[in-house]
Amino acid sequence: MPKVSGDQELPGVRVSARGAGRLRDGHVWVYRSDLETGSDIAAGALVRVADDRGKVLGTAFYSSSSQIAIRMLAHEAIGLGELPELLRQRVSAAVAHRKMVARDTEAYRVIFSEADFLPGLIVDRYGQMLSVQFLTQAMDAAGIRAIVLDRLQEELQPAAIVERVEARVRELEQLPAREPGLMTGTGSATKGVFTMNGVKFHFDGLHGQKTGAFLDQRENYAAAAQYAHGEALDVFCYQGGFALHLARKCSKVTGVDSSLPALEVAEENAKLNGTEIEWMEANAFDLLKDYASAGHEYDTIVLDPPAFAKTKRDLPAAARGYKELNLRALKMLRPGGILATCSCSYHVSEQELQDIVVAASLDAKRTVRLLEKRVQAKDHPIVPAVPETAYLKALVLQVV
Ligand code: SAH
Repeated sequence: MPKVSGDQELPGVRVSARGAGRLRDGHVWVYRSDLETGSDIAAGALVRVADDRGKVLGTAFYSSSSQIAIRMLAHEAIGLGELPELLRQRVSAAVAHRKMVARDTEAYRVIFSEADFLPGLIVDRYGQMLSVQFLTQAMDAAGIRAIVLDRLQEELQPAAIVERVEARVRELEQLPAREPGLMTGTGSATKGVFTMNGVKFHFDGLHGQKTGAFLDQRENYAAAAQYAHGEALDVFCYQGGFALHLARKCSKVTGVDSSLPALEVAEENAKLNGTEIEWMEANAFDLLKDYASAGHEYDTIVLDPPAFAKTKRDLPAAARGYKELNLRALKMLRPGGILATCSCSYHVSEQELQDIVVAASLDAKRTVRLLEKRVQAKDHPIVPAVPETAYLKALVLQVV
């Protein structure tokens, strides 16, 4: 975490030896069960964090309701007066970092919360529009929102900034409900087209079911397209992220998703790129089962399901889900065929995903060769000391 200094008085929070150990290992969260004092602290306050012996460990944002009670901002003691400049600097640093890691795209994640040392803040860019989420009590405070928005405006000069709201997150943080909407700029800039890897996509910051794309797959789209050939099936295709990339290499592409609104945008995206893709509204599990037993064959299959394991407890069921999908896909691939299989569940490790694919390949009586092990795109940085920042895994395999 970038260094800062200061020594004004802030409310103090003492954490248990276990909580302190976690912070000393480089993590930035302390769970409520690891707090020894601090229950009377105001929601969203900036606090001084100390270990069980009183040694200062740094400065953090406090949440009065989340299980994650402490999100560290700095490993030093900083004062309230220094907070605005610290936040401005971090926003600028995040923007500067993207100049290095997010090329060939007009859409990318500008700020990724803890991975940019701005816990509780997510900012995505789609062309001239920014989409912002304030996810914690501290980040949602009026003063902090204003500081963040001002610096984003200075750095990127967006034509519009919209706020995206996750009702469930606001409930967990006991924040008042808020309507998503335009925060600055003109409404017309909230809708448009962006280009990524040379492929065009529509976005609609105010009316879409989400603000736009799964930006974290940007580099994986290009990687999958590199090996893709023949007849392709994009399972869990959403608005066509993989399918549109595959269409540049494949003779025929079919995209499958259970969401009709997503498929409608996918079709608009296909038209925008002058390409023909077959879209199917279906439950992926049912469709793969039917197609595999009917003997359908493909040369390229992408599996990009939603996170099956939202918590550790979901792991066994999630593993069964991933295995079933991979088994059916492997059965349908022709020799030399390509499988790009993803998991965005933080709780499923890369090794676990690989083990699931191996088990599926044994059941399918197919041998696979690993072409690439991949992670989320670099504009979603990974801080290894904070394992939760690494969540997306993608394996690209070839069936021998
Ligand atoms: N591959 C996409 C992102 C996929 S997100 C991209 O790169 O843009 C997961 C998608 O799975 C969502 O679009 C959701 O509508 C869809 N989905 C969830 N459950 C499903 C199911 N059982 N069958 C088919 N689609 C499903």
